Amino acid sequence: MPEATNSLTIAIDGGAASGKSSTSGRLAERFNLMHVDTGSHYRTLTHALLELGIKTEAQDGLVKLLRSLNFQTRIEGRSAHLCVNDKIPSREALRSEEVNLAVSVFAAIPEVRKSLFNYQRNQPKIASDHGFSGLIMEGRDIGSVILPDADFCFYLHADESTRAARRANQGQPDAIAQRDKLDKARKTAPLTCPEGAIRIDTGKRTLEEVLDYITAIIEDA
Ligand code: C5P
Repeated sequence: MPEATNSLTIAIDGGAASGKSSTSGRLAERFNLMHVDTGSHYRTLTHALLELGIKTEAQDGLVKLLRSLNFQTRIEGRSAHLCVNDKIPSREALRSEEVNLAVSVFAAIPEVRKSLFNYQRNQPKIASDHGFSGLIMEGRDIGSVILPDADFCFYLHADESTRAARRANQGQPDAIAQRDKLDKARKTAPLTCPEGAIRIDTGKRTLEEVLDYITAIIEDA
């Protein structure tokens, strides 16, 4: 178990392109929080596994390999990045079609999730050790599995056409419907709205409105 801290912890869950990253990044600035994007953890790990020869359809040696990997955190500004064996792939590499197609397949494997569990649970301590007032962590299972005791838990969603248009505007080919389907269907830590989470439809509010809404909830508490 990570050490208890007095700092603010915010969990943000939601499907692909639901607005988690922009919302989390801006809230991190407003509240002096460390920002942890666990989607990029799964992308970084997927990139490493593919480079080491593991395929989505042939995973021999995966468990042994996972045990041999070294995980560390590198902080840039407010963002905490996962380094696997001292490497952080470029943003382009993490968002490549190859990684987009493989990430949800690897993320559904219980051993892959287990390999990141302690690392992710320890992030509040890292935030506190680096002088942040807490952390905001985004993903699919943050409120349900990784930080079930977070001070605030939000679930962002938007209809599929809105989300597909966001990716298209970013110039990123991304099979969001396919990834969501795999993420919701998996047995371990599926994408779900955690109990007690505040649901926000980001298709019906601007980013500024979402930020103000969440800020008011936090400041009122
Ligand atoms: O957030 P992003 O779209 O970059 O996440 C990439 C993939 O990582 C998701 O589609 C999902 O398969 C996996 N993921 C996960 N659990 C998290 C965060 C991401 O399974 N907490």
